[in-house]
Amino acid sequence: LFVLGSITAALLALYLRGPTFNAESLKGSRVLVTGASTGIGEQVAYHLAKAGAQIVITARRGNVLEQVVKKCMTMGAQKAVYIPADMSEASDPEKVVRFAVEQLGGLDYLVLNHIGPSPFAMWDGDVEHTRWLMQVNFLSYLQMAWKAIPTLEQSKGSIIVVSSVLGKMCTPFVGPYTATKFALNGFFGTMQHELAMKKSNVTVSICILGLIDTDSAMEKVRGYTNMTAYPASEAAWQIITAGVTRQPEIFYPWYAYYSGLFKDWFPFFRDMVIRGFYHYEP
Ligand code: NDP
Repeated sequence: LFVLGSITAALLALYLRGPTFNAESLKGSRVLVTGASTGIGEQVAYHLAKAGAQIVITARRGNVLEQVVKKCMTMGAQKAVYIPADMSEASDPEKVVRFAVEQLGGLDYLVLNHIGPSPFAMWDGDVEHTRWLMQVNFLSYLQMAWKAIPTLEQSKGSIIVVSSVLGKMCTPFVGPYTATKFALNGFFGTMQHELAMKKSNVTVSICILGLIDTDSAMEKVRGYTNMTAYPASEAAWQIITAGVTRQPEIFYPWYAYYSGLFKDWFPFFRDMVIRGFYHYEP
């Protein structure tokens, strides 16, 4: 009984720790990271740089990207270049993929991470903003993925989609944002099936994140909730791990998995708990 218990405990510990890999395997890898001027995307770039990868980063602000690229080079990146682009522009997503493939001579990983700014507030009926956010947070992901697939096919590469617990369950104050994340989970979940059925070399990893301590997220939730925020650097490492180990879906932090698992069991209790997380006076 003791031996059986020990083996079960060891297997559980291994499962909870999640997949691991040797960072050496990233050396020379060709990676395009979007939304890499700040936050989680910036941390993804730094992890890749330390591992000696070749990186193209993008976001709107060229001056900020330039600083990130400089830091990546000092950290050990084999190559680091940037391209300013606005994902709300119809032609920018494909332009960025073309640029990355030219610069890197191919592509091993496409990390889709950017989001457009969106208010943390009750929805005020602004359909135009929702339409704009759909282009930035959702449609541009499809454009980039589709453009990159032929190149990723040659390198047995991966598309990594950064999504959210808010693409799995509904909470207040994030209507347009949550809509884009539900759309991402649905679309790229379908793409996983289709690539597998086509026997494609390309995998898609969807990363489901809870609250992460980036400046933009902290600014939004300040005054609304006291929920614990988890470190962006660790979230970034989990995102890279998902792609390298070709996991279809990963969750960070731990509660991201369980909230999705139990959310439909007791809907009344769930909604009471969710609303209890936020301070709001009508
Ligand atoms: P940030 O707001 O810190 O970063 C967003 C990035 O996107 C920036 O680099 C920004 O740079 C870029 N960006 C904004 N608008 C555009 C645009 N129109 N075109 C191109 N790039 C743009 O976000 P986080 O790091 O917090 O989040 C990163 C990812 O993690 C997102 O997908 C988010 O949904 C997900 N996530 C985050 C959570 C959190 O709590 N932080 C929780 C769950 C998921 P610039 O302004 O220079 O364009």
